[in-house]
Amino acid sequence: QPVEDCGIIVFGASGDLVHRKLIPALYGLALRRLLPPRFYILGFARSEMTDEVFRERMREAITDAHGEQPADTLNAFLAMCRYTSGSYDDPAAYEKLAGRCSVCDLDFDSSGNRLFYLALPPELHPEVVERLAQAGMTSEGQDHKPWARVVFEKPFGHDLQSALRLDARLGKVLAPHQIFRMDHYLGKETVQSVLMFRFANAIFEPLWNRSYIDHIQISALESIGVEHRGGYYDKAGCLRDMFQNHMLQMLAITAMEPPISFQAERVREERTKLLRSIRPWPEDDPANWIVRGQYMAGPPNILPNTQTGTRTAHSALPDYRRERGVAQDSETETYVAARLLIDNWRWQGVPFYLRSGKGLQRKVSEIAVTFKRVPYSMFGMTSKAQMPANVLVLKIQPDEGIDLTIQTKQPGPKSCMSSMSLSFKYQEVFGVTPPNAYERLLLDCMQGDRTLFWSSEGVEAAWRLIDPVLDMWRRRPERCPLHRYPAGSWGPEAADALLVNAGHRWRRPPEMAGTHTA
Ligand code: NAP
Repeated sequence: QPVEDCGIIVFGASGDLVHRKLIPALYGLALRRLLPPRFYILGFARSEMTDEVFRERMREAITDAHGEQPADTLNAFLAMCRYTSGSYDDPAAYEKLAGRCSVCDLDFDSSGNRLFYLALPPELHPEVVERLAQAGMTSEGQDHKPWARVVFEKPFGHDLQSALRLDARLGKVLAPHQIFRMDHYLGKETVQSVLMFRFANAIFEPLWNRSYIDHIQISALESIGVEHRGGYYDKAGCLRDMFQNHMLQMLAITAMEPPISFQAERVREERTKLLRSIRPWPEDDPANWIVRGQYMAGPPNILPNTQTGTRTAHSALPDYRRERGVAQDSETETYVAARLLIDNWRWQGVPFYLRSGKGLQRKVSEIAVTFKRVPYSMFGMTSKAQMPANVLVLKIQPDEGIDLTIQTKQPGPKSCMSSMSLSFKYQEVFGVTPPNAYERLLLDCMQGDRTLFWSSEGVEAAWRLIDPVLDMWRRRPERCPLHRYPAGSWGPEAADALLVNAGHRWRRPPEMAGTHTA
């Protein structure tokens, strides 16, 4: 699909996300020659700065992310960047912005297509969009030529009611095809490749159901703490920050039915259907279904780096309640583990275990599918429990790739068995680092492809699942206590109890690879 000429207007251009992710991703697209030929970036925020100062900041953002760059490539990119300042609630600022956009459209000959990227605190999103609409900037031409699209960063609401209110406000000024709700996990190469893996190979999909799969674990673990985002995180917590969006999307992609085509709406429908099939967590005995934790100060984390073979010591994290921006008596969870069941024919009775947290021993994200064991071992083993199961691991980070463990015979005269791994790493096979998730998703926005973005129905289905848990934690916290765990550990021990009754356990090294690279 061609990438049409356009301008990207970035709100909150003085902020962290733009510096660390957005501008480096746009530059990454320029390096891969994936930006349209006629293109510009116009930053907008309250901070006053000239085009030149903005470009210097963007230069720094690019070299921070990509290292030193050839001067001509970098300068050519920076020449496409401009900046204008104003208040988000001032109509005059939008008139000024509209004028600046028109000048850029002419200067860069960009056909008037505009992508507005709201890298702003979410409470500002509805007002900014309404003011953009009042200034006539979200109107499209006939047959969407030129087009106007708006990208929203998560979170999409704080709970079900606020998400519904937000949706209603956006719906008054934007058509559904103009709305792009970003979830950067969906842009990760392995997450997308789950769809290819499942639906472009004939051998796995027949096994992808309750008859052959014993259980599935989805993990998104981080070794870092809240860093400089304590103020935001303490209000959100892990359930809102990770589960309501990234974790449920990974689950949906892993477990959804095949869409009738790879069109955005068809794929999004199937993901939403899956989210609606998740059994609500029962209110009685919640600790048997969901566990929450918060990290305390832990010892320095000394970790092997599997790529270099070296060991690196990382400084100890402070107690979460001592982090900057966090309340001293905070009850916010930095870890959540949950057991889920999906009420449909394919998955009846198969447990899905999800866990995510900060301040853990390793940074590793993966989807691990454990198949049922052989029904009978003829290799002299006394119990089938001794025969390991086949496990398929879709590795999201680090080292994106796919592993499948199989049992093989060890060389020699005896019938000794050993577990081996068939391993595929993107980097080794394709020789290139997969595009960063933001690169992929920005490209999709410019192409108008919403396949990897949240639909409003999906957001609502996710909140309908999460909202009762937040409510229970608020109303009856004693029923689901906050477990404190030392930073650098694997999270609270109570999380193990979610699995033991079913005879399962959380994956840990050496099954689970992973380095400490941030
Ligand atoms: P940020 O740095 O806190 O804010 C971006 C910009 O918004 C600031 O530079 C500031 O610019 C303006 N701003 C901040 N607070 C404001 C306020 N109270 N009133 C008016 N303007 C304010 O935010 P961010 O970390 O870049 O994140 C932007 C969006 O991306 C948020 O929705 C966040 O949830 C989402 N997100 C961020 C990350 C991340 O890693 N940072 C990851 C995932 C999602 P001016 O003062 O110059 O106007």
